Amino acid sequence: MKRPFVTLEQLRPIAAQYPTPFHLYDEKGIRENARRLYKAFAWNPGFREYFAVKATPNPQILKILREEGCGVDCSSLCELLMSGRCGFRGEEVMFSSNDTPAEEFALADRMGAIINLDDITHIDFLKATIGHIPKKISCRFNPGGVFQLGESKEGFQVMDNPGDAKYGLTRPQMTEAFRRLKEEGAEQFGIHAFLASNTLSNEYYPALARILFRTAVELKKETGAHITFINLSGGVGVPYKPDQPENDIFAIGEGVRRAYEEILVPAGMGDVALCTELGRFMLAPYGHLVTTAIHEKHTHKEYIGVDACAANLMRPAIYGAYHHITVMGKEDWPCDHKYDVTGSLCENCDKFAVDRMLPRIDMGDLLVIHDTGAHGHAMGYQYNGRLRSAEVLLQEDGTTRLIRRAETPEDYFATAVWD
Ligand SMILES: *Cc1c(COP(=O)(O)O)cnc(C)c1O
Repeated sequence: MKRPFVTLEQLRPIAAQYPTPFHLYDEKGIRENARRLYKAFAWNPGFREYFAVKATPNPQILKILREEGCGVDCSSLCELLMSGRCGFRGEEVMFSSNDTPAEEFALADRMGAIINLDDITHIDFLKATIGHIPKKISCRFNPGGVFQLGESKEGFQVMDNPGDAKYGLTRPQMTEAFRRLKEEGAEQFGIHAFLASNTLSNEYYPALARILFRTAVELKKETGAHITFINLSGGVGVPYKPDQPENDIFAIGEGVRRAYEEILVPAGMGDVALCTELGRFMLAPYGHLVTTAIHEKHTHKEYIGVDACAANLMRPAIYGAYHHITVMGKEDWPCDHKYDVTGSLCENCDKFAVDRMLPRIDMGDLLVIHDTGAHGHAMGYQYNGRLRSAEVLLQEDGTTRLIRRAETPEDYFATAVWD
């Protein structure tokens, strides 16, 4: 069963101070989870998590993660600028972008970030842009085909389609790229791959690690490149549904360690540092979208209208994603009412839940929509003249702090041309 990280008693005064809807983040949960990740990979001395900024681009969240030893994974100019303003410097910044504009490579280079190339043609593009090839550089590998793991009667535990993804270099291109980069003066090489998203299996990272470790051994033989880091990127998921299994980060770390001992160590590559670029796993469970029930409607279905909408959380609207809902104070009531829980956009996909069994909802009830800490506020938009909500941090001592104010109509009008 999924429980919110706050009780109704805790939430009432918070909702009295910050009008709903707002995103609430659990600092204690974020820190403890980051510490578990570092413990799970403590066997690898160079290990570093580069938090995927796109998941939760909030400076205060980035600063908390920085205190826990994380770097940042950026993919755009604004993410680089925000990270720089939060104090991330040099190799604390991974720049894993694609279809990259020249000015972004230039800024990443000025910051001393590690640049992760998405394509072989970007070697010349980067050189033309910044005038040289950095001494330390990474390439994103896409093995193509279909990636699947853990076949059972219910299907595969993990299934994704790298062959259809726009990212990365093919295997022969990896060899050619490493040769070229070496000729251009690169001295330290990294390999990156992202093969599946939101995986719920302790086998994903170990399976990905095996592919990358074998590829690293081959590339070293073929090109003589000195491979100093391997980037397992993101993709470790979280159980959005209450009946889904939770990943065990210690089992994941141990699985990767075994692959490392079996493949890299015998090849004389036992000094390779590992890194990750987790987003969802770092933040999703530690964010709630808090909203109030403001309307009930009885037509062909039973509807509960809330004051949040897809502008605050887009995942259900754009890919039918499940987000668990708790009616606060009614955690132990029977789920004997079937509702569609809707936002106000003039789009029928603006539903946080469809045919969801929930306790009876009364007007004014506070609802928590779970697992919105990653790809939640970040994906917000202003369609229909709806504004993005505030972000509030629940600090370790139980007090709260506003870490992003809600947008106002003035923000909405700020870019318009009036005369
Ligand atoms: C989105 C992204 C991540 C983070 O993915 P999660 O599924 O949130 O862990 C990491 N690396 C890159 C390059 C990405 O685009």
